[in-house]
Amino acid sequence: MVIATKPRRKFSKSVNLMVDRAFQYLDLPPGLSEQIKACNNVIEVQFPVRMDNGEFRTFRGWRAVHSDHRVPAKGGIRYAISVNYDETVALATLMTYKCAIVNVPFGGSKGGLRIDPREHSVDELERVTRRFARELIVKGYVSPGGNVPAPDMGTSPREMSWISDVYKSMYPSDINYYACVTGKPVANGGIQGRVEATGRGVQYVVREFFRHPDDVRQAGMEGDIEGKRVIVQGFGNVGYHLALFLKEEDGAKIVAIIERDGALIDDNGLDLRDVREYINEHGGVEGYPDATFVADGLSVLEHECDILIPAALESQITVDNAPYIQAKVIFEAANGPITYDADEILRQRGVFVVPDAFVNAGGVTVSYFEWTKNISHIRFGRMSRRLDEWRGLKTIEAMEYMTGKEMPEHMRRGILLASDELTLVRSGLDDTMRLAYQEIRAAKEDVPELDDFRTAAFYVAIKKIAQTYLDMGVWP
Ligand code: NAD
Repeated sequence: MVIATKPRRKFSKSVNLMVDRAFQYLDLPPGLSEQIKACNNVIEVQFPVRMDNGEFRTFRGWRAVHSDHRVPAKGGIRYAISVNYDETVALATLMTYKCAIVNVPFGGSKGGLRIDPREHSVDELERVTRRFARELIVKGYVSPGGNVPAPDMGTSPREMSWISDVYKSMYPSDINYYACVTGKPVANGGIQGRVEATGRGVQYVVREFFRHPDDVRQAGMEGDIEGKRVIVQGFGNVGYHLALFLKEEDGAKIVAIIERDGALIDDNGLDLRDVREYINEHGGVEGYPDATFVADGLSVLEHECDILIPAALESQITVDNAPYIQAKVIFEAANGPITYDADEILRQRGVFVVPDAFVNAGGVTVSYFEWTKNISHIRFGRMSRRLDEWRGLKTIEAMEYMTGKEMPEHMRRGILLASDELTLVRSGLDDTMRLAYQEIRAAKEDVPELDDFRTAAFYVAIKKIAQTYLDMGVWP
């Protein structure tokens, strides 16, 4: 359904207006809020690359450093035809607050290249990525201690591996070269659990939400995740993993998936692995035989459900559709899926929104773990895993000796849970997302004017960033 539209605000403006709602509850020294909000620097590069047919094409890209109050500045690199200056700045801005919300000690950055990766061969993408990386590295926009990219829409561990290889070839004696980028393949400096980290983080946020009956009630629901009807927009890295985890591990019902060529609906729940296979084979959801196809995918955001999870692009929920969204709670897995004006409408309507700068922070959290692993040059758990195992066995032996009874298998498994890298990453991510949720809730309780989760999340972030500036002595 569509109502009268007004010109859309720029993405960065929309983000800053949301942030302003939180600034009004903080009493900061003059000028500090301007510094926190300002984007420190942005580079634009253009470069030619030879295509497979021998012709040259010029590509245009950006990397924005919104904040380096902490270094390195951190943020993904996006490949999409819609990439532009403003979007890159807006996404870098969100990174600053995101890192602060989840206590990741980084500044905020973001990069983007205007390209449709689906139009290029792997060879072309490799040449383009290597050339883009070189441009950013020589100009100081990629380095282990200064600015560290990661995957975002349209990029993956493959591109990250190419970037780290370019950096290594330019700085062969930098022993920290792996740390110049995160989200790399595990065999090439990456960390277990990074690929699915953002989706996993969303799952942990959803679980934490359902651990707070007051929040669940405020959203007009009851009970836990089991059986809740979920709509996911975007079935890529983030959307696919979060949908799979919520369905297979928590019993949610994924009743619709919205993709770029339309949506699939099945009120009994979709077979996600089958849909993924179909998309891999056919490039979209149209023609999938076991669900109802709706060509106007965007309209399915208004379909009846309990939980809506936008995991594709920004500006998907606008003044045009916000009045008709039926979801009781929205978890913003994508960056900026709700515009400022739409957010106002949803707030008035009492729709519970858990914001992007917190919900999708699982990616940067595990990137932080990867970066830490890279600069410490040792896999997590390498020194302690066998010792933990030995202690577990000794504990079981002692208990069995003292009781004269054999320990049941499920208890043995619990005590012997190995502290291998993947287990540690999941534990660290779960802890991070849970604590951040609780911190935001606590801020809402301390400052009753913070009546929505987004404003409270920004409030928490700004307080920490401001403290960093104050501690540095920049502001007296
Ligand atoms: P991706 O490229 O893996 O997947 C995006 C998916 O969205 C694709 O399946 C694509 O076909 C679909 N899509 C594109 N346009 C669409 C449209 N108009 N309607 C519906 N679907 C559409 O990207 P991703 O890494 O999953 O990122 C998705 C979102 O999550 C982005 O906003 C990104 O900034 C954010 N995010 C990603 C990460 C990460 O670790 N990858 C971390 C934090 C935030």
